[in-house]
Amino acid sequence: MRKIQMVDLQGQYEFIKDRVNNSINEVLETATFINGPEVREFQKELEGYLDVKHVIPCANGTDALQIAMMGLDLQPGDEVITADFTFAATVEVIALLQLTPVLVDVDENNFNIDIEAVKKAITPKTKAIVPVHLFGQCANMDAIMEIAREHNLYVIEDNAQGIGASYTFADGTKKKSGTIGHVAATSFFPSKNLGCYGDGGAIFTNDDDLAHTIRGIVNHGMYERYHHDVVGVNSRLDSIQAAVLRAKLPLLDLYNNKRRDAARKYNTAFRETEHVKIPQMANGCESICDQCDCHVFHQYTLRITNGKRDALAQHLVEKGIPFGIYYPIPLHKQKAYTDTRYKEENFKVTNTLVQEVISLPMHTELDDEQINYITNTIKNFLS
Ligand SMILES: *Cc1c(COP(=O)(O)O)cnc(C)c1O
Repeated sequence: MRKIQMVDLQGQYEFIKDRVNNSINEVLETATFINGPEVREFQKELEGYLDVKHVIPCANGTDALQIAMMGLDLQPGDEVITADFTFAATVEVIALLQLTPVLVDVDENNFNIDIEAVKKAITPKTKAIVPVHLFGQCANMDAIMEIAREHNLYVIEDNAQGIGASYTFADGTKKKSGTIGHVAATSFFPSKNLGCYGDGGAIFTNDDDLAHTIRGIVNHGMYERYHHDVVGVNSRLDSIQAAVLRAKLPLLDLYNNKRRDAARKYNTAFRETEHVKIPQMANGCESICDQCDCHVFHQYTLRITNGKRDALAQHLVEKGIPFGIYYPIPLHKQKAYTDTRYKEENFKVTNTLVQEVISLPMHTELDDEQINYITNTIKNFLS
């Protein structure tokens, strides 16, 4: 059996070596390292794939979130509601811009922001909601967009884990994740579903004016060379990263299908296992069907409900199986983001999830032998 990796980027590279190398070589030959044609081409191709009017590439996903918030002209003291159970980047940029993060609990079935908790958190100061499409599945965007309309709030989608996923609205229409709110941010960190070979990110929006504002912000607030109209940042996707992404974008659906195949096999293995909760499909889906693209399994995350998560993790180390604990501490308990207004009883779900979750190896190169070894090891341990 091949050694199991949490994310197998080397194995993936073997299959796309020629494509990627040619693409990178082109940049080297033409020495167009910054703002080269590759960046513009990638931007256009991603706009086409997502069916969104504007993709604005930038240096990483964290920048993308920050720039999206700068573009909306949020002001110090404005409250921004986001999930307590996510990677810290989301809340970090809110705090960095001197906005007030308002963390709320998540839904125990799908790990995404809890709609009732969002409603309860709204005050006259609330200006935006940041749903995170955690582990590759959209938050309940019907409800979030409805709340936003009602209270005149912006919706900023954190799509770092959800690229390629679709969301089906209650009326049957479908949109790609990251094209539903006013603006979205994504990351091309190597281990993301569409990853480059360094850092990268992008902002998406269908709003022409906002896109114009953001294009200036990513480039030192310049709309005309050496005229700085707003305070901006320097945040670029470099041409070599764009070249890698151009080589990989045509494979994104195939890659996401492979992830779903692996998730389906994990689900089949664990469906009847005591003390294990398999990830639930949200937004009306019963299971991972063949046509279903509503979950792209950035992570495949189990809940171990008998208190033995850490013992299992130790066992996996001994058996040579990598895993991840995403996330081990709720954001409201992180030193940087504590707030005396938070009450523990409002974070029942995240406080439980941090003790129960474990993410299994998930990537495009997992084979049946590896999956069987992983599932049998876990089932034997828990029985
Ligand atoms: C990865 C990630 C980010 C940050 O992306 P970087 O490119 O690493 O800055 C933000 N939010 C979520 C949910 C992520 O998973």
